[in-house]
Amino acid sequence: MSHIQAVHRLIEEKSDLFTDMSDRIWEFAETAFLEKHSSEYIISKLEEQGFEVERGVCGIETAFVATFGSAKPIVGFLGEYDALPSLSQEKGIAEYKPIASGGNGHGCGHNLLGTGSFAAAVAVKDYMEENNVIGTVKYFGCPAEEFGDGKAFMAKAGIFDDLDFALCWHPAPINSVFKMDVLAINQVYFRFKGRSAHAAASPHLGRSALDAVELMNIGVNYLREHIIPEARVHYAVTNTGGDAPNVVQSNAEVLYLIRAPRVSQVQSIYERVCKIAEGAALMTETELEIVFDSGSSDMIENHTLDAVLDENLRKLDPPKFSKDETAFAVAIRQNVIRRREEHLMGERD
Ligand SMILES: [Zn+2]
Repeated sequence: MSHIQAVHRLIEEKSDLFTDMSDRIWEFAETAFLEKHSSEYIISKLEEQGFEVERGVCGIETAFVATFGSAKPIVGFLGEYDALPSLSQEKGIAEYKPIASGGNGHGCGHNLLGTGSFAAAVAVKDYMEENNVIGTVKYFGCPAEEFGDGKAFMAKAGIFDDLDFALCWHPAPINSVFKMDVLAINQVYFRFKGRSAHAAASPHLGRSALDAVELMNIGVNYLREHIIPEARVHYAVTNTGGDAPNVVQSNAEVLYLIRAPRVSQVQSIYERVCKIAEGAALMTETELEIVFDSGSSDMIENHTLDAVLDENLRKLDPPKFSKDETAFAVAIRQNVIRRREEHLMGERD
């Protein structure tokens, strides 16, 4: 029996455990950093399987690391389990039916995400035990995949430092190795503070924060020609300073997202955007506050590992679906199309 068949058999043997876990996490449906029941459930199952678990790593209650073994190489699996707001849905039915109106739900399959990585970690551990393989397998419980970047805090705290490599995955309509470079990003608020005045009676006394926002945006739009074409800079005016044109707006705010292939490129564009904001404040005699909200580095792909994964995935047969499973998928698709048509008709009316 090949290694792949052996691991496949180990997964099949515990398939009930994995299916139950997926169902439970679907029901818990907890959003970013609040995945208390989901993480506790996975921890309890990891402990049952012989893993040692360190809870609440890097000061985050729902982040954890489970370890089996102690020697090199150290192989990691990343597991996530956060839900999204307003996507509550009863399990096992093809029609849209929220459990609680406005409640949370799993939009892109994060009930499967942490579970699939759990299955992989357990199968590798079982394989190591059966075949006396030396090494360490770790399961990383990573909060906040949807938004909030739980893994960024874990990386910063050095949680992944001793790894030889880690594998992650995401549910998708196709079974393949993900080849996707992800841009680095900075998310920053620029807040301007001016002086209010009546715009008709005494405009000379006012200093407009909205003018500063507009001038900043014009400056950044001129900047575009002189940055790398792969960069993406977009903004939204998050505070216009009010809805009265006859009042000089004393406060205004614009939110910028600055993206580029490498984090160093984002940083240099960000510094230039900050200079433009300072220029806009100077032109309008307003005060500027820069609030750095969040940022993520680019994802560096390991192409060698991709090739190994691809080669092994091709050796497995594609998943087989029963008649019932195919009919269920068709029903979901039909319902999605029907709901989209209803939505479009509603927009036309
Ligand atoms: Zn997702």
